[in-house]
Amino acid sequence: MDIPHDYIRLHDVPEGCLLSPERWGARGARLARLAGLGLPVPRGLLLTTDLTRQIAQDGARTHFDGVLRDTFQTLGDEVLLSLRASPPRPEWGGPEALLNIGITDARLPALMTRVGKPGALELYFRLIEGYATMVEGVDPEDFENLMADQVKYWSVASEGDLPEDARVTLVDQAKALYLDEVMQPFPQDPVDQLCAAVDAMARGWNGVSARILRESHGAPPEAGLGLIVQRMAFGIGQGVCGAGVVHLVDERTGTPALSGRFLTQAQGYDALMGMRTPHLITREARETARQSAPSLEEIAPDALTDLRTHGSTVAAGLGDIHGFEFTLEDGKLWLLDAVLTPRSARAAVRIATDLARNGAISRDDALLRIEPRTLIEHLHPQIDPRAPRDVFGSGLPASPGAATGRIVFSPEAAMQAEAQGDNAVLVRMETSPEDIRGMHSACAVLTVRGGMTSHAAVIARGLGLPCVVGAGDLRLDIRNRQIISQDGRSFAEGSLITIDGTRGEVLAGAPEMIQPELDGAFATLMSWADQAREMGVRANADTPQDARVARGFEVDGIGLCRTEHMFFQEDRITSMREMILADSSEDRRRALAALLPMQRGDFVDLFDIMRGLPVCIRLLDPPLHEFLPHSREEMHDLAEAMDIPVSQVVERAKALGEFNPMLGKRGVRLGVTMPEIYEMQARAIFEAAAIVNTRNLEQIVPEIMIPLVSAKREVEVVRKNIEAVAAQVMAEREVTLTYKLGIMVETPRAALRAGDLATDSAFFSFGTNDLTQMTYGLSRDDAGRFMRDYVNQGVFAEDPFHSLDIEGVGELLLIAAKRGRKTDPDLVLGLCGEHGGDPSSIHFCKLAGFDYVSCSPFRAPIARLAAAQATLLSRKSGQA
Ligand code: PEP
Ligand code: MG
Repeated sequence: MDIPHDYIRLHDVPEGCLLSPERWGARGARLARLAGLGLPVPRGLLLTTDLTRQIAQDGARTHFDGVLRDTFQTLGDEVLLSLRASPPRPEWGGPEALLNIGITDARLPALMTRVGKPGALELYFRLIEGYATMVEGVDPEDFENLMADQVKYWSVASEGDLPEDARVTLVDQAKALYLDEVMQPFPQDPVDQLCAAVDAMARGWNGVSARILRESHGAPPEAGLGLIVQRMAFGIGQGVCGAGVVHLVDERTGTPALSGRFLTQAQGYDALMGMRTPHLITREARETARQSAPSLEEIAPDALTDLRTHGSTVAAGLGDIHGFEFTLEDGKLWLLDAVLTPRSARAAVRIATDLARNGAISRDDALLRIEPRTLIEHLHPQIDPRAPRDVFGSGLPASPGAATGRIVFSPEAAMQAEAQGDNAVLVRMETSPEDIRGMHSACAVLTVRGGMTSHAAVIARGLGLPCVVGAGDLRLDIRNRQIISQDGRSFAEGSLITIDGTRGEVLAGAPEMIQPELDGAFATLMSWADQAREMGVRANADTPQDARVARGFEVDGIGLCRTEHMFFQEDRITSMREMILADSSEDRRRALAALLPMQRGDFVDLFDIMRGLPVCIRLLDPPLHEFLPHSREEMHDLAEAMDIPVSQVVERAKALGEFNPMLGKRGVRLGVTMPEIYEMQARAIFEAAAIVNTRNLEQIVPEIMIPLVSAKREVEVVRKNIEAVAAQVMAEREVTLTYKLGIMVETPRAALRAGDLATDSAFFSFGTNDLTQMTYGLSRDDAGRFMRDYVNQGVFAEDPFHSLDIEGVGELLLIAAKRGRKTDPDLVLGLCGEHGGDPSSIHFCKLAGFDYVSCSPFRAPIARLAAAQATLLSRKSGQA
C-alpha cells in the first residue's frame, strides 16, 4: 500500500504502510518508519519526488502554499522548521539542509524567551546565512568573514565565546549583507522563507551540475528528490541542549559498543564539524581518551539509556543495526535520523547472525545478506585496513590473505628458511610442479608472470597461501638476486616484504595484521548455510594435509585429487623420472612398481581422513616433461640413479618436448598410450580401498576420474584396463569393492559428445580451467600478461578463468548436462575447476542442476554460503 497524495504528515502514515524510497526518498521513508515505531521523531511533512518535480517547474506556492502555511500553524506559533533533501539513495547526494526556517524580526522575541537571547540571535544569523547561500546563491564566505571579524574584534577563542553584543551586531550585519547582495530585505514571512527554500531545493536538484554529479554515482537520469519539512528540535537553548551522533555496535567486530560524538548548544552536524571539541558518548571512552569534559553518559544518562532502547526497537523494526543522529532539547531526546551502521566484513557476519537470533530477520535473510567473497576476511590474516601501506608492486590477486616474510628466490631457500623457523616469501618468474615443496615451506608466493589459473595460483589457493601472480611491474633480476620496482627501488634476497593476495599488492615491510576468526558468528553462519544448501561442496585436495584442512572446513568430500602432485616428493621424483624416461614397457613397469606402495599409502591416508565421504581421484594428467629435471646437476643425479650416461638423459628429455604440451600428450592420451601408468594408479586406489574397508566400518567407494577426454573410445579403452585391475585386486585380496568411474569434461568436444560419453561414465566433473582455455583458445598460463588490459578495456567483463563465462563456456556446460542426463538421468554432475569457489559460477551450477562444486579447501566456506544463497534465491524466484 502507498499513499495516494503527493505529501503526507510524518505521523499520519498508516500503520504497516511502508513508504517507497523511490517515491518519498530514503530518509523520508525511514523517518516514517521510525515514527510508526513510536520513536521520538519531530513532527513534519513529507513531499514525494513527483511533487518536487512539479515544484521545480511551477514553484511551491502554486502547488502548496496552503499546506505549508498550515504546517506552521498546526505545529505551533514558536515553531521553527528544517527542510531536508530525501534522495532515493543517499549516495546520490542532494542539497544541504536548511535549518531554523521561520525566524523573523517579529518572531525573535518569542524565540528569545524560549532559547535565551544569545541562542536566538545565533539561530537567526545561521538562518540568514543558510538561506542567502541556498536560495540566493550568496557566497558563504562573506558570512564566515563577518563571524571571523567579530571573533577577532572581541579577541575570543571561538565563535561560541562571543558576547551578546557581538551577536546583535552579527544579525544586523547579516541582514545588511543580504540586502546588499540580493537587493531586497531578508524575507519576514515564515511561509515566504519556506516556499523559497523548497523552490531552491527542487530547482537545485534539477540543475545540470547536480544531475551530472548524481549520475556519476549511478543515479538514473529521471531520479527524483523527496523533501522533508520538519519541526526543529532546539539543540541550542536552555537546559541540556545539543546535537550528536551515536553508533551502537563496533563497526570492526559487530559487537555491541557505544561510540559517537555529542556537542552541547549545537544543531545538525555541528558535532562532526570540529568547531569545538565534542563530548564522547561513554564515560569509559572519555577516560580512555583522557578527556576531562564529561561524556554524554554523564551529562544525560537517561538519554543514553533511551538511545540504547531505541536502537533495539529499530533493529527489530527495520531489521538492521542503525545508529542515530539526535538532538537533546532541554534534556528531551529527539531522533533526527537512523543511520545504517557501516561495518567490516567480519562485523557484517556478527550483525546478521545476531539479528537472526533475536528474531529481527530470518536465517535466510541473514544468509543472503553476506557477500560470500567477504568471508575471506575470516579465513586468512589480512592487513589491518588502518595500517599504512607501502605498495611497490601489483599483480593479480591469485590467492587471498596476507603474509609477511623475507624474500627467497628458490624453493630450497624457502625450505631452509622454514627449517630455521623463518617466514619466507617465495619469489619466482613463475612456478612449476617442482616448486611445490618450496611453496609448502613459504608463507606467501609472488610470481612475475602467470594468470589466475597458473600453477602458482592454483597451488597457492589450495595451500591457503597468500599469492600475487603476474606482477609485471616488477623486474626479477635473478643474477643479482633482487627484485626491482617500477619506481627504481630494489629489494634484495632477505628483504622483508608483505604479500597482499586479497588485493594483489606487494608491500615493503611488515604492516599490522588482523588474524583469522573461524568460530562464533562465522561458525553459526556456516551451519545455517549447510542446512539451507542443496548442492554439495567438495574440496580439491591432493595430499593428506590438504584433506585435513578440507575436513576442517566441513566439505562433503574430495572432488578432485590431482595425483601428479604426489610425485614431486624427494623419495618419489626419481622413480617417476625413471618411469618417464624408460624406453620399454618393462622398464616403465619396474619404475611404477617402486611408486605403487607410496601411491597406495597416499590413498590410504586420504580415505582414512575423509572417512565416510566420497573421494574422487584423477588419474595422471600433465604432460610428462613437467616432471623432468631442468638443471645440469639434477640430470646428473638422475643419470647416476638410472645408470645411464647424462647425454642419454638429456636426449630422452629432449625427445619428450612438445610444441604445445597443454594440447599434447597429456590426460587420457597418456592412459591410452602408456596404460601401465593408469594401471598402477588404479591398483593403488583399489588396494588402498581394500585396506581401509577392512579396517573401518564406513566403506570407501572410490571415484576414479579420467582427465581431458574427448572421445568415447578413449573412455572405453581406459575403462577396460581399470576394470581388469579391479577384478585382479578383488581376487588377490578376496574382497568386494565398489567404485565409480567418471570423466572430466574439459574439452569442447567432450561437452558436445556428452550423450555418448555418459554411457561409460557414472559422473561428469567439469574441468572448467581447461574447458575455458580450450573454448577461448586462450592459454591459461599466459592470460595474465594481458588479462588486466582486457578487463580494463571491457573486452571481457571479467577474467573468464576466475568467474565462469556463462555465455560461452556456460552454454557448453548446459549442453553437456542436458545431453549427459538424457542418456543417464542419474548421471552425477560436478565442477572442479577454479570456478568451483566463485559465487556467481556456483549460482550458475545450481541453476544448471549440478550435484556439487569442488574448490580449494580455503574457499569451501565461500562456496558453502554461495550454494546456500543459490538455493534460497532459486526458491524465491520459483515463488515469484
Ligand atoms: C580443470 O582443467 O579445470 C581442472 C580442474 O584440471 P587442472 O586445473 O588440473 O587442469
Ligand atoms: Mg584440467
